[in-house]
Amino acid sequence: MEIQEAKQMVCEAGKRLLAEGLAAGTWGNISLRVDPETMVITPSGRDYEDLKPEEMVEVNILTHEIKGNIKPSNELGMHSAIYRDRKEINAVIHTHQQCASTVAATRREVPPVLDDMAQLIGPTVRVADYARSSSKKIIRGTLKALKGRLAALLANHGAVCIGRDLDEAFVVSQVLEKACRTFIEAEFLGGAKSINKVEAYLMHQYYLNKYSKQKKGNR
Ligand SMILES: [Zn+2]
Repeated sequence: MEIQEAKQMVCEAGKRLLAEGLAAGTWGNISLRVDPETMVITPSGRDYEDLKPEEMVEVNILTHEIKGNIKPSNELGMHSAIYRDRKEINAVIHTHQQCASTVAATRREVPPVLDDMAQLIGPTVRVADYARSSSKKIIRGTLKALKGRLAALLANHGAVCIGRDLDEAFVVSQVLEKACRTFIEAEFLGGAKSINKVEAYLMHQYYLNKYSKQKKGNR
């Protein structure tokens, strides 16, 4: 994939995130892996509304060396750590989406309350322990919470959604929001009843295998 194409895709994803109500102002960041050593990430402290592709930042995943003079997102360390840890992952979206943030404030693991959540994200959504944003501790906690999953909550902060391509990470973010809203509302209605965890695990494995042939590399 070309860097220019990646910048265009990340920029469009930022605007889509805003349009779908999954980001508020500058609160979130998106990256895309271009090759084993390179990612493109949204800049620091810019409104998504009028983002331009040329403002996206090319960063080395291993050294954090930056190309150009635009400051990348403060949370780039989390993005690069995910790419180093998960070879199959090519897109990372970090959001402060509302319902996921509400559940993250309770620090409760999301049980498999919906079948699309179980299929796409995994049998549960874990919560990474609270730590200062972009600290080593939060990065470690996030990698642990993401094991075998395509999303994790960050205690009292927000969510991280990942995918084999940008479209997948985006759908993860949408399905996570729906699952968290359902969980919150079901608890109000007398308590959420979950899908059996083994069944939920198998559903996720089936999804990963079924779509793995179609999702080789970035689109
Ligand atoms: Zn954040």
